[in-house]
Amino acid sequence: MDRLPPFALHRPASVADATRLLAGNGARPLAGGTDLLPNLRRGLGQPTTLVELGGIAGLDAIVRGAEGIEIGAGVTLAALAADAGFSGSAAALAEAARAVAAPAHRNAATLGGNLCQDTRCVFYNQSEWWRAANDWCLKHGGTTCHVAPQGSRCHAAFSGDLAPALIALDADVTLASTRGTRRLPLADLYRNDGAAHLALEPDELLVSVLLPHAPAGARSGYRKARVRGALEYPLAGVAIALVADGPRIGAIVVAITGLNPLPLRLQGTEAFVGRTVDEGLLAELGKLVAKQAQPMRTTATPANHRRQVAAVLAGRLLRELADPAPGAGEPRDAGCA
Ligand code: FAD
Ligand code: SF4
Repeated sequence: MDRLPPFALHRPASVADATRLLAGNGARPLAGGTDLLPNLRRGLGQPTTLVELGGIAGLDAIVRGAEGIEIGAGVTLAALAADAGFSGSAAALAEAARAVAAPAHRNAATLGGNLCQDTRCVFYNQSEWWRAANDWCLKHGGTTCHVAPQGSRCHAAFSGDLAPALIALDADVTLASTRGTRRLPLADLYRNDGAAHLALEPDELLVSVLLPHAPAGARSGYRKARVRGALEYPLAGVAIALVADGPRIGAIVVAITGLNPLPLRLQGTEAFVGRTVDEGLLAELGKLVAKQAQPMRTTATPANHRRQVAAVLAGRLLRELADPAPGAGEPRDAGCA
C-alpha cells in the first residue's frame, strides 16, 4: 500500500460542527478508519479534508427509549458484540458485529462506518499500480467494467455484515446535514449500483440507528460464509428476523449481503406467514434467495457458489430460529459455512 495522500484533519465536538465541515468540498467523515484508510492508501479517493468523528459527544451512546433502542453511529462493533441487550429478538445485530474482521478491527470500527463502507470487487480493492496495469475500471478511473464489460454499471458487492441484520430488524437511520435531519428506513439508504451504492449526500452524516421494539415471540440471527473463520468479509451473509405464532410463522424478514451491490431485503417472504417451517418451506426460501441474490465475478470465489451458499445459509438459519435449542438467545458467534 502507498502512503496516505495529504489532507486536513478536523476533530469536531458536535454533529453541527461536523456537518459544517462536511459541507466543504472534498470532505469525508472518518470514523474507525478500518475501511476508509486502506482504501485511501490504495489511491481510492483523495479527500482534501477528513472529519474525524471520535470527539463528538454522544455519538457513541446506546439509549433505550419508548420508540426503541437508539444506537449512535460512533458505537464500536466491539461494544455492540458485548452488549447483552442485543440477544433474542436482536441477536442478529450482536452476531453480525461479532462476525466482522477481528478483535482489533472491532475495537476501532463503528456502526456508522460499517453501514457506510464502500462496495468491494477483486478489480477494485487493489493497489494503484495493479489497477493502472489493468487500465483501471468503471468504478474508479476507467471506463470499462472488467466483470461485465458489455454493461455500463458497476456490480461491486456490498459486503457489510451489520446492514442485513439491521434491515431484517426494521431499523431506521437518522442523517444530519447543514440542511437539517431526516430519518429513513435503513434499506432505503442503499441503491443497486456498486459505484454509487449510498443514497447519502456527500455532506450528510449518519448520526444514529433506531432499532424498534420487537413483538413478543421475536427471534433473529445472522450467519455468514467466509473463506476463513476471521478477518474475512462475507462471501454471502443472511439475516432473519422471525416472529413465531406457536408453531407457525407470524412474521418473517430476510436480508442478504455480500452478493449484490446493496444489502437486499428479500421480497416474497410474506407468503410464508401462517405456515409452519418444514422442508417444503425451506426449499421455497432457498429458491427465493437464489433468485434474488445476484453475485457477479467480484470475488475469487465463483459467483454461483456464493449464490448457493446463501440459499443454504438461509435455510439453516430459519430452521434454527424456528426450533431454538435450549440456551438460544444467549450471545453466540455467527457460524461459517
Ligand atoms: P471508516 O473506515 O471510518 O469509514 C468507512 C466509510 O464510511 C467511509 O467512507 C467514511 O467516510 C464513512 N463513514 C464513517 N462514518 C460515517 C458516518 N457516521 N456517517 C456517514 N459516513 C460515515 N467489514 C464487514 O462488515 N465485515 C467484515 O468481515 C470485514 N472484514 C474486514 C477485514 C479487514 C482486513 C479490513 C481492513 C476491513 C474489514 N471490514 C469488514 C471493513 C471495516 O472494518 C468495517 O466495515 C468497519 O465497520 C468500518 O467502520 P469504520 O468505523 O472503521 O469506518
Ligand atoms: Fe470495477 Fe466492474 Fe468491479 Fe465495479 S464490478 S469495481 S466497475 S470491475
